[in-house]
Amino acid sequence: MLLNLAKSVLRTTVSPVLDFAGIYDRRLRGDGWTILMYHRVVNDLADAPFGLGMCVRRAHFASQIAYLRRNFNVLSLREGIERIARGDPLPPRAVSVTFDDGYLDNMELALPILEAHQVPFTVYVASGGLAEGEGLWYDRVRASLASTSEAAVDTARIGLPGPGRRLSLSRWQREATIRQVLDGLWSLPIREALEIVSRIERVYGTTRDPVFLAPRMSPAQVRAMHGRGVEIGAHTVNHPNLSLMSQAEAEAEMLESRRVLEELCQAPVDGFAYPGGKMSASTVAAARAAGFRHAVTTIKGINNGRSDVLQLRRVGMPDNAVSDFKRALGSAMRTGLALPRQAC
Ligand SMILES: [Zn+2]
Repeated sequence: MLLNLAKSVLRTTVSPVLDFAGIYDRRLRGDGWTILMYHRVVNDLADAPFGLGMCVRRAHFASQIAYLRRNFNVLSLREGIERIARGDPLPPRAVSVTFDDGYLDNMELALPILEAHQVPFTVYVASGGLAEGEGLWYDRVRASLASTSEAAVDTARIGLPGPGRRLSLSRWQREATIRQVLDGLWSLPIREALEIVSRIERVYGTTRDPVFLAPRMSPAQVRAMHGRGVEIGAHTVNHPNLSLMSQAEAEAEMLESRRVLEELCQAPVDGFAYPGGKMSASTVAAARAAGFRHAVTTIKGINNGRSDVLQLRRVGMPDNAVSDFKRALGSAMRTGLALPRQAC
């Protein structure tokens, strides 16, 4: 609670002061290729309660993209990868924009802004349940627990490993409880996690209230995005914790999601994003064996011409105005460079 309060003060009070003093601009002068990571863009946070930090308000997003256009060299991820492959230098202050998961708001709210500023971008789409219009597993959990009238989650009843506990769903505790349940599920192999997700929906209910759902693009909408010049990347079928899988299992998740998306877009899909950033050495080996030309992580940092293109670093973007956006960019630049490519 206190930590969140401190972060909020930093973002809304300290960031504008430091920005006014020119501190952030000095930090952003360094070179390197910064890849931004977004998930959802919403008109208002009231449209997505329990957004769990994955939502950026439309007005903030528009000001962030306008700032990037004015101050950075924006390039598509594909162009960055091609330059690295050719050994050509990346432009100074290079930046690329990515979205994970494939939410409908990427098309409805983000696309018009990005097109208006002529900013290319990549969307990594999980293919499971896409044709059926099903939510991703963590969104199903979030929707169920956000909308239930039950007072607490009984972890033994839903089969979460560990000692049975009752986690409060009070107004003040609900978000923390949702996070705790999701953390528990991320620690499990995907088959077990999906069984528990179905149990949660049986016990705590499902909802049709759009405010609790996080609609994904339909197959036709993914195809339309690709037709508008958006790069579509793979993001597995089931959005599992890949680090808990064997290399062969991880590779199967990667190949199947790529197959579905390639059939949909009638074009090669050669980029990949590790779901939830969960990865191990064998996961990277799986991405290599699957033949991806690039893969992005959720490890904070920036990249350069020597970076391992299967372990590109990214920066998660805050739901804040430009001053705090600059703080986040500067922080990634100080955090460090992606790992260099291995000689092979
Ligand atoms: Zn994801």
